[in-house]
Amino acid sequence: MTAVQKLSADLWQCNLPFQGEDEIIGPYLLAGNKELAIIDPGPTTTVPALLDALREAGFQPEEVTHILGTHIHLDHMGGTGTLLESMPKAQIYVHRKGAPHLVDPTKFIASATRIYQDQMQELWGEIKPVPQERIHTLDDGEILTVAGRRLEVHYTPGHAIHHVVFFDVHSGALFAGDIAGVHLPNVNYVRPPTPPPDLDLDDWFNSLDKMKRLYPDLLYLAHFGAVRNPTQHIERLREKLITWGNFILGAVRDGKSEAEITQMLKAHTEPEVVRLAGSKDILKKLELATNYSMTVQGYLRYWKKKQPDSVLS
Ligand SMILES: [Zn+2]
Repeated sequence: MTAVQKLSADLWQCNLPFQGEDEIIGPYLLAGNKELAIIDPGPTTTVPALLDALREAGFQPEEVTHILGTHIHLDHMGGTGTLLESMPKAQIYVHRKGAPHLVDPTKFIASATRIYQDQMQELWGEIKPVPQERIHTLDDGEILTVAGRRLEVHYTPGHAIHHVVFFDVHSGALFAGDIAGVHLPNVNYVRPPTPPPDLDLDDWFNSLDKMKRLYPDLLYLAHFGAVRNPTQHIERLREKLITWGNFILGAVRDGKSEAEITQMLKAHTEPEVVRLAGSKDILKKLELATNYSMTVQGYLRYWKKKQPDSVLS
């Protein structure tokens, strides 16, 4: 599998092997006007692969001028501090609510450790802080001029309170991070990534409506690649967010434990995925992109903390 694929003039997608699997972590490279930008560069564990991909596309790491983060989760921005060591010109662009956690990742690491436990190092590697002066904080409605393009910044909470999307108005491409879900190549299935602690369904639905109103021609997902039917895809994601949420809420009301609910959700959803993919190989890849226990933890926290009445009734 090649590490980098040209999508259009001056736009590439990287395929960074992650835990032995392809097409899960997919940063985008944008070039133009003597600038080079990376959207969602990925975790520290895939930094060597990203540097290889840059060179394969014909660039040197020192040429990178912008690192744009849709949000600061470790699989999107965890490698930033390490990357800066070989990218002296690069400025970081993230939403203002995410920026403090790049500067001091202590709290963020503690929160991620509750999800990934003893797998933290193996999955994400060392998380180095990013110097404050290298960060440009983003707000909703901001317009960036990057790599010869006009990129609109739209605040899209729901998956994370520090999530934005970048809309390239001229090409119609929307760089959607995780708010448009997980969809792997050649499998007609969308999975909702619903981690704690920020999951908020109302915010997420508003973000989906906001993306639809932009009328993008295509979505570029972080996990993984292009989606060419944005409206249908967005509605399928909304439906999955609702049905998974109701399934988990029902199990909570029935008094099931977190471990039991995780097993129930797997049993309830895996047959559909395997049928659509035509193979069980898809299960490991999806689990690496967004795992079931994180999904359940996210919903449980959401229902209990943000919708406490729903759990009781
Ligand atoms: Zn995420």
